[in-house]
Amino acid sequence: MTLPAYTGRFAPTPSGYLHFGSLVAALASYLDARAQGGQWLLRMEDLDPPREVEGAQAAILDTLGAYGLEWDGECIRQSQRHAAYAQVLEQLFRQGLAYACRCSRKRLEPYGGVYPGFCRDAGHAADDAAIRLRVPQLNYGFSDRIQGDFSQHLAGDVGDFVIRRRDGLYAYQLAVVLDDAWQGVTDVVRGADLLDSTPRQLYLQELLGLRQPRYLHVPLIIQPDGHKLGKSYRSAPLPTDQAAPLLVRALRALGQKPPAQLTRAGAREVLAWGIAQWDATAIPRSRALAEAQLE
Ligand code: GLU
Repeated sequence: MTLPAYTGRFAPTPSGYLHFGSLVAALASYLDARAQGGQWLLRMEDLDPPREVEGAQAAILDTLGAYGLEWDGECIRQSQRHAAYAQVLEQLFRQGLAYACRCSRKRLEPYGGVYPGFCRDAGHAADDAAIRLRVPQLNYGFSDRIQGDFSQHLAGDVGDFVIRRRDGLYAYQLAVVLDDAWQGVTDVVRGADLLDSTPRQLYLQELLGLRQPRYLHVPLIIQPDGHKLGKSYRSAPLPTDQAAPLLVRALRALGQKPPAQLTRAGAREVLAWGIAQWDATAIPRSRALAEAQLE
């Protein structure tokens, strides 16, 4: 079987609408795929219904359409993939690679996000408990195409991490690894807020014998007050009637040099220019860019 040389994806969470920071990440992933003749897939990461904003899924699809960011095939929804997650979770639990944790949030508060291992050897049953993956006393690192070498000591920096929450919802770390592998993703291009998640994902890939994609993390766009442009913060949703100027602005944020007159063209022309001229090496090697400083 021959695998396609390049399969990329955009994987938004419908806990909000797309904003300028999501456009930068989506555009980078789209152009990197198309410039290499690759596929570009769309996956809706709707793992957390209580945090989902009503209408966000439809709005995300409409916005991508208005910006000319056409994906290949069907949009996959993680809410349809629970059986696959459950199967792997049960396997990890049976093998003792994961265990049930009954610690309350309050009990863990003093540990700054690194799980101290209280339930590691407790032998709790899996129901009404979070499931954590045991991590080794090892560094997991990779070479990001833009950000360079990045590694974390899993036990010291992260600790055993949650792969299914106590309320039964599957965790992003598990779902993203299974779905990237299942969809044959060769290249992950996404926001630099996820750099810190990548070593956990590498460990899961290794445990499950999955192929490791290449990674490229693009700078986050932050507001003057230091807020990440994101769903947890009220950032403006992308207007659908200004696709070309905002695509040009996103290209500039990615270090590309589009000619000024492109702002008056249509979204498709901007994308065609972007595909033809794409230079991933020009992306700023920075984890964040201030929105106010963009042209
Ligand atoms: N769903 C994640 C987000 O919207 C992105 C996941 C990924 O690209 O790996 O932040």
